[in-house]
Parts: sequence; structure tokens; C-alpha cells
Amino acid sequence: MVDVLVAGAGPAGWSVAAACAREGLHTALVDPAPSRPWTATYALWRDELPSLPDSAIAAAPATTVAFGRTRHVLDREYLVLDNTGLRHWVTDERVELRQGKLDSTVHGGHGSTAVLADGSRVAAAIVVDARGSRRRAGARTEQTAYGVTLSTAEAAAVTGGATALFMDWRNSPTFLYSVPLGHDRVLVEETSLARKPGLPLGVLADRLRARLARAGVTEPRRRERVRIALDTPPSLRGSTLGFGAAGGFVHPATGYSVATSLALAPAVAAALADGLPAGPSRALRAARHAVWPASALAVHQLRRKGLHAVRSMPDDALPAFFDLFFALPTELHRAYTSGRTDISGTASAMAHLFRTAPWRLRTRLAL
Ligand SMILES: Cc1cc2nc3c(=O)[nH]c(=O)nc-3n(C[C@H](O)[C@H](O)[C@H](O)COP(=O)(O)OP(=O)(O)OC[C@H]3O[C@@H](n4cnc5c(N)ncnc54)[C@H](O)[C@@H]3O)c2cc1C
Repeated sequence: MVDVLVAGAGPAGWSVAAACAREGLHTALVDPAPSRPWTATYALWRDELPSLPDSAIAAAPATTVAFGRTRHVLDREYLVLDNTGLRHWVTDERVELRQGKLDSTVHGGHGSTAVLADGSRVAAAIVVDARGSRRRAGARTEQTAYGVTLSTAEAAAVTGGATALFMDWRNSPTFLYSVPLGHDRVLVEETSLARKPGLPLGVLADRLRARLARAGVTEPRRRERVRIALDTPPSLRGSTLGFGAAGGFVHPATGYSVATSLALAPAVAAALADGLPAGPSRALRAARHAVWPASALAVHQLRRKGLHAVRSMPDDALPAFFDLFFALPTELHRAYTSGRTDISGTASAMAHLFRTAPWRLRTRLAL
């Protein structure tokens, strides 16, 4: 029997498993391919995770710009992660790796039994579900994107030369995202912010190809395909602890979750370590409280309203709306994108947008 069994070896699963091992808990991690490298390009705001070591950073662009209809320089440092360095940072050798697929969990008074797809069983006081988003693609609101890797010179021809382009809405209803990856490589991605069902990747690929063609760039081989479920609810019930995308950590209006998972892992591990001597149920309650205090649930509801407002906006209003968003004072921008328990900051950002919006947009924001 292990203290903690984590299912899913993505950034969320690895970070919580390693944090549990560091708390002295006997921890196992199960995944169909537990050592498979992460291939997605992850990024976050530095202020979300000040403890991130340099070894986990692939690029720290000097300036990050965004366009609604006009140009904005964002006064926050945006970082592109180095997945090898990140993996190294969140790995702990005391975590036992198991190759397998979690199929179901049977709960009892002294903990749980995880049943794997091959029929084998693992007894654990606590099972953490970090299997990523589990909802069927067509049934969820999704952010989708299609990206390619270009040389710095090619990317400059497509983006107009920005070091990092957080969003460029000048060719809405989709936006262009572009970040340096280091070693003369730049990711350029056509993104659909939020749709149900998600905008097909083929449509995004065609839009990106048209941009590349206008800039005289031919499509290279390395591609990135993005599908992020925006509406996975917070995991508040059941006998397992949802963590990462599986636990509803994805910001409903931005699609980000990696910084949240990395930041919450130590607090969850500490809650489990403190609670386990009093039994698995107590430990599970304490860990859930560490992840979803009332303030985080309230902010999640506000963010869902933000998602609803953006989804209900006519396509031709999006560039004007994002001009307002990027003109938010930095502390309100931070509160809305990253203040997971900051109710007043999130509400102030939304109120500020409403106050500064023209009437045509206000009716949508009030929905
Ligand atoms: C291409 C791409 C780019 C993204 N970029 C960003 C970004 O820049 N910033 C950001 O914050 N977010 C980003 N996201 C969104 C989100 O943060 C990622 O999806 C992130 O990978 C979620 O981490 P996770 O560990 O929760 O889940 P995942 O990374 O999806 O990991 C889930 C793991 O569970 C395993 N698994 C699945 N089923 C089982 C099972 N039955 N039993 C055991 N294991 C199982 C899988 O093999 C996988 O290893 C991006 C998403 C994508 C797809």
C-alpha cells in the first residue's frame, strides 16, 4: 500500500507526486508512458511562479506585446518553459513509477484501491487524478490552436518583428500567438480563444498557412496542435483528488493551468501529509480545501462569466474588447489572469472593463 497514488505524468501529476515524496509520503505515479517527454510549448507569467529556476526557462522575451486594433506593451514578464529543465525540477527519485492506465477506483474506509486497465490493483490511502481533461472533445468549450516552428527571421516576417506576441487580434476571429523557443526557433500559432465545439484545427491551419504565404514563408515540418478544454469543473466530490487539468485548474477564460499546478503542489502535499495520520478522508478534505478554498471557487465563477462574455461577443468586436483588456492597469491584468483567490481584484478588473467599454460591448459584458 502506498500513501499517495498519482494517475497521470503530465506537469500536474509530476509536480504533486514529487511534492508528496518530498513530504516523506510513499508515492507512486502511474501513466501509460511515465517517462515520455512533454512536447507542448508551455508558458506562464513569471510573477505566477517566482520560484521557477532558470534551468526550467527556455526563453524570457525582453518585451511582450499584444494587439487588439492597436499595439500594447505588457508590463509583465512572460516566460517560455524548457520542458526538460521543468521536468528535472519537478522530478523526485523517491516517486515509484508504474506503467499502466488507471481504469477505476474502489473506495473503502482505509483508503482506495486503484484498478488498472490490465487488471492489476494498487492500494493507496489517497488517489490523485491528474489524467488531464477527460471530457469528449465535441462536448466541451475549447481553445484550439495550430502552430509551426520558424526561424527568427521567418517569424519576424509573419509577426512584424515582435519578440513575443501574446495575442494579435488584427485578423480576428482568431488571433496570432508567437513566442521564442531559444536556438533561433520561434513558435507561431493561430489560436481560437474559446468555442463550443472548438474551431477545427484544419480551419486554423488554413488561416495560418495564408499568413505564412503572405509573408513568403513555406510551412515547416514541426507542428503543434492544441486542444484545451475550458469548462472542466472544479473537482469537489468523490473519493479521488482532481489535480491539474483533470481537477478543473484550467482558467476558463485563458486556458492556462500549468503555473497553478506547479504552485499548488507543495500546499496539497503538505495538507495530505498533515491529514493522513487522522485518516484518508481527513487528508482528502484538507487537500481539497488547499486547492479550492471558497475564494478560489468564487473567482472560478467570475472567470466563467468572463468566458461567457467573450464567447457571446460578435467576432468583429473582439479586437476592440482586447484593446480594453490590454489597457487594464497591470495589477488588474494580473488579478484577472492569475489571481486565483483574488475575488476583489478579479471583480475590479471586470468592473473596469465594463466601465471603459463602449455601449455596444457593455451589453455583452453584462450578460
Ligand atoms: C499544445 C498545448 C500547449 C499548451 N500551452 C499551455 C501554456 O502555455 N500554459 C498553460 O498554462 N497551459 C497550456 N496548455 C494547457 C494545459 O496547461 C496543458 O494541457 C497541460 O499539459 C495540463 O497538464 P496536466 O498535467 O494537468 O495534464 P496533461 O499534460 O494532459 O497530462 C495528463 C497525463 O495523464 C496521462 N493519462 C491519461 N489517461 C490516463 C490514465 N487512464 N491513467 C494514467 N495516466 C493517464 C497522460 O498520458 C498524460 O501523461 C497547453 C495545452 C496544449 C495541448
